[in-house]
Amino acid sequence: MAHEDCIFCKIIDGEIPSAKVYEDEHVYAFLDISQVTKGHTLVIPKKHTKNIYETPPEVASGLFERVPKIANAIKKVYKPIGMNLLNNNEEPADQSVFHLHIHIIPRYGQGDGYS
Ligand code: 5GP
Ligand code: ZN
Repeated sequence: MAHEDCIFCKIIDGEIPSAKVYEDEHVYAFLDISQVTKGHTLVIPKKHTKNIYETPPEVASGLFERVPKIANAIKKVYKPIGMNLLNNNEEPADQSVFHLHIHIIPRYGQGDGYS
């Protein structure tokens, strides 16, 4: 169920527009609004969960199970030479949206703007 005032739940529900990368019954993937590199994508579970601490195993497995497929789709389109996966939990660790998400950050070599 959508969590009140959660922007990622609103994105899943289509109330806030997003550039969809992938979607199925468990996950939604979309381009980050402020891409640190070309193709920077967020993968989120459709079931609202605040961060990794509050994530039930079945939600975690549904999410992580799909990451390789999504990463490969991004690799095919953007042709990066590498990729970082990142998950921030709680404010001191740079979590700014409190709906669990995995960042997929394609890398293009020195000067790609991300370090
Ligand atoms: P965090 O800092 O919580 O790990 O990552 C949250 C990410 O969500 C940030 O990279 C930020 O740019 C992205 N973001 C925040 N609001 C929106 C939005 O409305 N649309 C999209 N596509 N990305 C968003
Ligand atoms: Zn949410």
